[in-house]
Amino acid sequence: MATAIPERAGISEAEWSARQQLAACYRVFDHLGWTELIFNHITLRVPEEEGAFLINPFGLHFSEVTASNLVKIDIDGNKLSDSPWGVNLAGFVQHAAFHRHLPDAHCVMHTHTTAGMAVACLEDGLSISNFYAGQIAGQIAYHDFEGITVRDDEAPRLIANLGDKRLMILRNHGLLSMGPTLPIAFLRLWALERACQIQVASAPMGRLREIPAEVLAVHQRDQAKLVRPGMPGEAEFNALVRLVDRKDRGWRD
Ligand SMILES: [Zn+2]
Repeated sequence: MATAIPERAGISEAEWSARQQLAACYRVFDHLGWTELIFNHITLRVPEEEGAFLINPFGLHFSEVTASNLVKIDIDGNKLSDSPWGVNLAGFVQHAAFHRHLPDAHCVMHTHTTAGMAVACLEDGLSISNFYAGQIAGQIAYHDFEGITVRDDEAPRLIANLGDKRLMILRNHGLLSMGPTLPIAFLRLWALERACQIQVASAPMGRLREIPAEVLAVHQRDQAKLVRPGMPGEAEFNALVRLVDRKDRGWRD
């Protein structure tokens, strides 16, 4: 799947592989329709390089992101390598809060999908009434809207509200997911996005039927028993990368 590291100084094999995985992820988000003009971010720590992160070049659509045009930055958003592209510092502030304070926040994803934003607008948030909501029930944090996330002083409240959860509904705003690997963060976000989509489809049809606590316990227990090939989330993520490849393989370069 990977291609050779381009002839350029300063890119380790580990960084190139992270660049390709992240570029593929931007294309997967595009494929799923999880895009918002040139906004939103998926950020990834550069392995074996303390304090270095990869982010999308500001100004490009997710469908235009490639391994090479991703921008390497430090935790404050300063560029660590030559790039003609800038980064959306306003957007990175929120991701930096998690990368800075949580050792396991290897990858952070944030979306403004219609379904995710719609559920984020509800006083009661996600209804635990569908299969996917049941799968992630108890794993979702909420954070009240404080305006566009550009201020560092919001970080302590983001971290406090997240607690030990790794999915967050940003009230009035959108969805957030993170994980120790990109496929894990992706799979978490996918379940939350699907849960929101189903809620948006089912809520106008009538009263939602909440899943009883004892059924949730069984659902989550048995879910954990499902054995898939490879590391968690990889089979699902790689399947979507193969779909993306049928459209355009340009993300590799
Ligand atoms: Zn946002």
